[in-house]
Amino acid sequence: MASNQHVSYTQNLMKYMTLDQKGNVMAEYIWIDAVGGVRSKSRTITKVPEGGQFKPEDLPVWNFDGSSTDQAPGDNSDVYLRPVAVFPDPFRLEGGILVLCECWNADGTPNKYNHRHECAKLMETHAAHEPWFGLEQEYTLFDMEDRPYGWPRAGFPAPQGPYYCGVGAGKVVCRDIVEAHYKACLYTGVKISGTNAEVMPAQWEFQVGPCEGIEMGDHLWMARFLLHRVAEEFGAKVSLDPKPIPGDWNGAGLHSNVSYKATREEGGMKHIESAIKKLEGRHKEHILVYGEGNELRLTGNHETGAIDKFTYGVANRGASIRIPRECAAKGFGYFEDRRPASNADPYQITGIIMETIFGEATK
Ligand code: ADP
Ligand code: MN
Ligand code: MN
Ligand code: MN
Ligand code: MN
Repeated sequence: MASNQHVSYTQNLMKYMTLDQKGNVMAEYIWIDAVGGVRSKSRTITKVPEGGQFKPEDLPVWNFDGSSTDQAPGDNSDVYLRPVAVFPDPFRLEGGILVLCECWNADGTPNKYNHRHECAKLMETHAAHEPWFGLEQEYTLFDMEDRPYGWPRAGFPAPQGPYYCGVGAGKVVCRDIVEAHYKACLYTGVKISGTNAEVMPAQWEFQVGPCEGIEMGDHLWMARFLLHRVAEEFGAKVSLDPKPIPGDWNGAGLHSNVSYKATREEGGMKHIESAIKKLEGRHKEHILVYGEGNELRLTGNHETGAIDKFTYGVANRGASIRIPRECAAKGFGYFEDRRPASNADPYQITGIIMETIFGEATK
């Protein structure tokens, strides 16, 4: 599927991958930018900790030029990168590590786009409730001419129907990217739980979870980084646009499944119902942090609820909140918030859900 140029690039790289690095480790520092993308840069780490396992505190704080990413003004451009989680590197293998970072300003305040800091406080405050999340990341792959991958040069593919969980030529494209990404996630320890082809051709989904607390945001951002990075090698662009193609084509969401200790136990349904009541009271506040351009997706059609109306129901994919059929039958389990758009920040989603159900952070 990829252009010859990309294939030869990765093949040429292969012969260098086994060169001795003389005990050094290449650390890829990763951060979230001003537009919901990821950025990264590398540095050499000369000291490997005893046992070979890096923890965030083993890694130096670093910085980048925030004026080049719209994250700081030119006259005060240094933004600090504070390591918060370390993962094995599926690209450099033993020679590398991936280092997820929070962005901090020089004056000691969190950077405007650092939503992890507030989320971590909420998760810590309410940790005793043992909140679990599972996020379903939908995305669309585009070719280098900015068309959905595999779409005809002029006009449109046949209407939606054969593509969801499709098998066979003409139904799905870029399965190689999806497979490579799945394997890369498993290698790094990202808790990916599955993948499927979506309703619109060139659209796919992967799920991450269940993850507890702050781990949800960390793992979803790492899964996004890996997807952009893998797709780069195959010559495809990843779009998290919630309505990439206007008209009768499905949008892309980030369905957020939620449970906590009390909802997972016998009698959990009454806790799910009271959580839904609280969510109803703060619908507008949630929509504000549930992604850019979500109004084009949450129309009430294409398996969505309308953006200005809070609804819920068992097995209802046209509602804001869905209680899975199996959960209603058992009387406990989890619920699904279907409102978040594909481009929302998982730290903001999981953070506001905690705040709405359990209250503000006190830590
Ligand atoms: P859908 O039927 O909406 O497409 P998926 O199978 O794509 O559902 O995703 C379900 C998600 O729910 C997965 O990410 C999974 O990890 C998550 N999940 C399952 N059980 C729980 C739970 N008890 N609490 C939170 N999330 C859960
Ligand atoms: Mn420089
Ligand atoms: Mn799903
Ligand atoms: Mn889906
Ligand atoms: Mn779903």
